[in-house]
Amino acid sequence: MKETLQMIPPVHELQHHPQFADIVKQTRLDTVQLTKQLKIVIEEIRKAILQGNWNGPLPGTAGFIEELFQLLLKSATKEFSFTLKRVINATGTILHTNLGRARLSKTAISHVVETAENYSNLEYRLDQGERGSRHSHIEALLTKITGAEAAMVVNNNAAAVYLVLRALAENKEVVVSRGQLVEIGGSFRISSIMKESGARLVEIGTTNKTHLYDYENAITPDTAMIMKVHTSNFKVIGFAETVPTAELVQFTKTLDDVIYYEDLGSGALFDFRQHGIGEEPVVKEVIAMGTDIVTFSGDKLLGGPQAGIIAGKKTFIDRLKKHQLARVVRVDKMTLAALEGTLLDYARGEKAIRNIPTIRDLLRSVNEIDERSHAFVTKLLQKTTIFEANIFPDVSQVGGGTMPEVQLPTMVIALRHQSLTAEQLSRKLRIEAKPAIIGRIQKDEFLLDLRTVSKEEEELILEALANIETH
Ligand SMILES: *Cc1c(COP(=O)(O)O)cnc(C)c1O
Repeated sequence: MKETLQMIPPVHELQHHPQFADIVKQTRLDTVQLTKQLKIVIEEIRKAILQGNWNGPLPGTAGFIEELFQLLLKSATKEFSFTLKRVINATGTILHTNLGRARLSKTAISHVVETAENYSNLEYRLDQGERGSRHSHIEALLTKITGAEAAMVVNNNAAAVYLVLRALAENKEVVVSRGQLVEIGGSFRISSIMKESGARLVEIGTTNKTHLYDYENAITPDTAMIMKVHTSNFKVIGFAETVPTAELVQFTKTLDDVIYYEDLGSGALFDFRQHGIGEEPVVKEVIAMGTDIVTFSGDKLLGGPQAGIIAGKKTFIDRLKKHQLARVVRVDKMTLAALEGTLLDYARGEKAIRNIPTIRDLLRSVNEIDERSHAFVTKLLQKTTIFEANIFPDVSQVGGGTMPEVQLPTMVIALRHQSLTAEQLSRKLRIEAKPAIIGRIQKDEFLLDLRTVSKEEEELILEALANIETH
């Protein structure tokens, strides 16, 4: 045993092997890092030999060096690769929070790349040669699109809610209907964020019903704000009643120094109702009703980067911009670039809007998905006969806690593998396919919904399915 181990060449000798240089090139590691990795691999081989778990050629025999370098390449590649990886979302759920929510539009992506590669006028006024504000880049577009007097952007909508409450209602009372005290995925609770902000929550009404008189009775000299929260991932049906925004705005106007704030959650800038999808009002309408402030996410229905958008009356937005916490929750230049790119698409009109991936996927017709699914199955069966494939009608979700009641009609490709269960197939596609492919499992069938899959990704899926190994 000892003699076998002694046949492993010393590190300095292996370092001069041409394969070592090859791996340096392939992995773009420097020799110091690769040498560290080499030592780890040698140690693992020694251990395996000592424990009798070594199946490769023994040291000193033909093929050992080859095997060693192969293991080195594998372990170095694994050790020095991204853990945040691209995946193919074949679930049909458009705003899949676990898969990164919205994908960005081409305009947004190229703007991010240019902004990342170069210096920019992030906080510099080119016309005056003076210090400027990072809010300025987004504000003009946002006010144009939403009709608000002023706007600003923070890290995400959770931060937006927090900043609004902290800056405008600290130590004061905020009136919220009980039916709107929701928890949004990832344990974001309105009641908890309110507590953190230092604002005092005044709950009114019941889970299913809140009337205008409930608001009227809750107003005290300490009331700073009436807040309405979009219930997002939750919907009360049946015997339910809330006070419409327009009525609450009118009521708030009769009060002194009370702000009307609406957390819209998703905040649609595009009217999906016109396409028969959901009942989400566009932000512009909510602003036009006279709301003082609204907040919404950048990466939900809007289809941009993670961000929180605050829009409304200038006097309040100015106070928010000046607040110390604005700095704590401020966005970086890449987010601003991505958001500016996305908003420019909105400003450019219908054609550009339809190219925002979130919008495009939401509007994708069942006919298109059906045709693409049939073409996909035909191609698949030409490549391999190891699958049984069926196409049947199903529904895609919007996701991200957005429009939970909406079921988008779709077609799914249901795959059965000759020897693998749906569970095993799914695992292989997650772990072995590059990029990983995420689908759905239903009744021992693996489902692909092409709604969220691009043409280019279809080819990658076909490739991966044809190359499934079943050893
Ligand atoms: C999603 C959501 C949030 C949180 O937004 P993020 O951008 O994910 O931080 C807050 N409020 C409502 C109503 C939401 O739907």
